[in-house]
Amino acid sequence: MNKSYSEIKIREDLKMVGLSATQVRIRILAMLRTATTPLTVEQLMHLLNSVGISIGRASLFRNLDTFVRVGLAERLSSNARASQYTACHYSSDHHHHLICTKCNRVVEVDGCVSVDTLSEIEKNAKVKITGHSIIFYGLCARCQ
Ligand SMILES: [Zn+2]
Ligand SMILES: [Zn+2]
Ligand SMILES: [Zn+2]
Repeated sequence: MNKSYSEIKIREDLKMVGLSATQVRIRILAMLRTATTPLTVEQLMHLLNSVGISIGRASLFRNLDTFVRVGLAERLSSNARASQYTACHYSSDHHHHLICTKCNRVVEVDGCVSVDTLSEIEKNAKVKITGHSIIFYGLCARCQ
């Protein structure tokens, strides 16, 4: 993808969710979008440093949390690994992610647990579910 085009798109996307397009935000989002696999906070810090942006850990976390909150990124946690972040393309629609166990790529998947299943879980566990996040593990289309 053309670099200037993607920056224009990023500025538009930030504006759409009500965030000001700071240089740091543009860079972080561009890195998440061009990465083929999810990135850890350490990897992002390193990438930002390599283009001359020095950012504190806390500030990076804050920016990432903001992206997750507005749906521009997703936090993926898997077992022993530190949290990883991936760019999210369907910011408005409810969806989930699959992490390919072979190539580590993240695939956005449509569809969700049925309402019936959710009410069954609520009934069995005597809880009230107000939200959820699901990470699927498996093989992406290329790795099957
Ligand atoms: Zn997504
Ligand atoms: Zn794969
Ligand atoms: Zn869901």
